[in-house]
Amino acid sequence: MTASASATAVPPRRGDEILSVRHVTRGFDKSQGELLVLDDVNLSLRSGEIVGLLGRSGSGKSTLLRIISGLIEPTSGEVIYQGQPLRGAARGVAMVFQTFALFPWLTVLQNVEAGLEAQGVPADERRRRALAAIDLIGLDGFENAYPREMSGGMRQRVGFARALVVNPTLLLMDEPFSALDVLTAETLRTDLLDLWTQGRMPIQSILIVTHNIEEAVFLCDRILVLSSNPGRVVAEIKVPFQHPRHRLDPAFRALVD
Ligand code: ADP
Ligand code: MG
Repeated sequence: MTASASATAVPPRRGDEILSVRHVTRGFDKSQGELLVLDDVNLSLRSGEIVGLLGRSGSGKSTLLRIISGLIEPTSGEVIYQGQPLRGAARGVAMVFQTFALFPWLTVLQNVEAGLEAQGVPADERRRRALAAIDLIGLDGFENAYPREMSGGMRQRVGFARALVVNPTLLLMDEPFSALDVLTAETLRTDLLDLWTQGRMPIQSILIVTHNIEEAVFLCDRILVLSSNPGRVVAEIKVPFQHPRHRLDPAFRALVD
């Protein structure tokens, strides 16, 4: 058995470190020379926590998520995922994008199944898992709809289903609610937090990029603030309370609602 196989065989316990970003630096070549976007970024995510990454536009938030998801490499530094240095895209890491990134020519079901195709999951299991993810996220009945027939909120639910279908250990979200109107964003945010607090998603940790401070306080246990030019983690805020309505046991929810 390889080291990585044994690491994934044992489910992480609450508080275990899932991810560690160590001294990550990233630059991009520009006509006027190299632009240093991320400079010595360090962070760590533990099982059981939702962490927010807050920063101005252009501070490198998306770049950092792309590095963590293995889509691009850091110029220097490293990402440790479940105790192993990250090489390319890690299996247990899924991403939700601001503009949904759905395939317009595929139905909801096909879009969600597409999340599993790269993993070589057999067709019948793909179908079963996709239907379960669709059901979980509240898209029941929309299996055969096309994205163009759906509202932004429903499209983003497809984005969530496609991420959840892979049973990710770590869910990365890049401004997942910022393309939605205020009420739709609120509903989806609340639904996500409900699924999380009720333990209905198999996710160990969530890293969410946002520039909405209220959203970060509402969702997160901890908020990291990224500076601009270059991006560095300049502050870490522990959210001293959680929104009581959503942190209550479901049995008490009925009394509060
Ligand atoms: P944020 O998500 O915080 O708004 P980004 O990570 O998208 O910021 O971008 C940070 C900076 O990096 C910007 O100045 C952007 O122009 C630059 N950048 C990002 N990706 C690339 C790329 N592939 N090539 C060149 N420059 C890039
Ligand atoms: Mg961005």
